[in-house]
Amino acid sequence: MDPITTEVPRIEADFLPSAQGYWSDVPPEQWNDWKWQLKNRVTSLDGLEQHLLLTPEERAGVILSGNKLALAVTPHYFNLIERENPGCPIRRQIIPHVGEGAFSAAEMADPCGEDSHMPVPGLVHRYPDRVLFLVTDRCAAYCRYCTRSRVVSGAGEQELHTDFDEAIAYLEKHTEIRDVLLSGGDPLLFSDGKLDALLTRLRAIPHLEFLRIGTRVPIFLPQRITPELCRMLQKHHPLWMSIHTNHPRELTTEVRDALAMLANHGVPLGNQSVLLAGVNDSLPVMKSLVQKLLRCRVRPYYLYQCDLIQGSAHLRAPVHKGIEIIEGLRGHTTGYAIPQFVIDAPGGGGKVPINPGYVFFHDKEKVVFRNFEGRVFEYPEVQEGDSTRSSHGTEKGDLGESFPEILHDEVCSL
Ligand SMILES: *Cc1c(COP(=O)(O)O)cnc(C)c1O
Ligand code: SF4
Repeated sequence: MDPITTEVPRIEADFLPSAQGYWSDVPPEQWNDWKWQLKNRVTSLDGLEQHLLLTPEERAGVILSGNKLALAVTPHYFNLIERENPGCPIRRQIIPHVGEGAFSAAEMADPCGEDSHMPVPGLVHRYPDRVLFLVTDRCAAYCRYCTRSRVVSGAGEQELHTDFDEAIAYLEKHTEIRDVLLSGGDPLLFSDGKLDALLTRLRAIPHLEFLRIGTRVPIFLPQRITPELCRMLQKHHPLWMSIHTNHPRELTTEVRDALAMLANHGVPLGNQSVLLAGVNDSLPVMKSLVQKLLRCRVRPYYLYQCDLIQGSAHLRAPVHKGIEIIEGLRGHTTGYAIPQFVIDAPGGGGKVPINPGYVFFHDKEKVVFRNFEGRVFEYPEVQEGDSTRSSHGTEKGDLGESFPEILHDEVCSL
């Protein structure tokens, strides 16, 4: 066996350049042009095999991907793949695998039930005050575990037909919506002009307080983050951005510089990771990732349990792994570095936090809990009002109702 394949994956605590790698003969002005990067993506078996030694499982996966989720890797990201290591964490995210053809009973094409929560094509309204706006079905590169693989890339049967006018009309009418999350696909594949026009239309809706963009472009295509783009985004504040990074090696010097440019233009940055087997289902890898993100001024936001997307079993790590990772971070590193671990409830229940258990016992008298070292503590529960009032409240069995009453009595007796 090749000695490289048996090596433990490297953990990159420091920023390394992707540089031009396999494309070192390309003039730098082309290399640094995001349109060149898109045009020169690796999209075929031949293209992959020019540089990589594929396994039979990968070759079969590539052939299978043609009518499911397209294969596409930007040259920038391709350079991060270890040539001879099929276990490479970058590779597992982006190179198709025959496992994508194995569907299990629990898996679904639309695991988060998005299609059934679309009042308008392309607009998912699941939570009371915010919506997910799917503005495109194209990405800079395609993640093999993508929760929207049913629509992204254009390779599968289902298509995304976002109706922009209808979506804007819906947002104008629904004054309860205060937060719009642009996603897809990847909104940063729009030209500056097109994105500017869309953001301007959204900004014209007075009740929209907050806009955000979900994007993997800074990771796949850092060349897209130009001063012109940043100046345009800056006009639409408050505009937040959620990037998507899974492994510390993805944070190259180019990515770091792109993130710095966004942060310098006042864009608050969060990160979403998906817990993936053989990629980041280990505490040292996640710890290195989240600490590196803080150095890029990116706040780790969510760690997702991998959705039950069809053909993703080979990439799904067990839920207990995610809990162990959070437990291994809390108290052991900067609080800002710790994402919230969530499961997006199958069928459309939304994101549900999944936490390590720190509370052993909690009643009216006290709460008993442990700290990150396992030491056990007790905190006396605060007694609300005097004993008659709190027992009155308890009898009703509904703290929510008894609260205003207690407060009201106390304010009157002052
Ligand atoms: C994730 C998501 C959001 C945003 O959720 P936050 O917890 O506010 O980040 C909104 N709508 C849908 C459908 C989502 O999946
Ligand atoms: S960038 Fe996002 S939407 Fe695009 S393939 Fe990856 S996970 Fe899916």
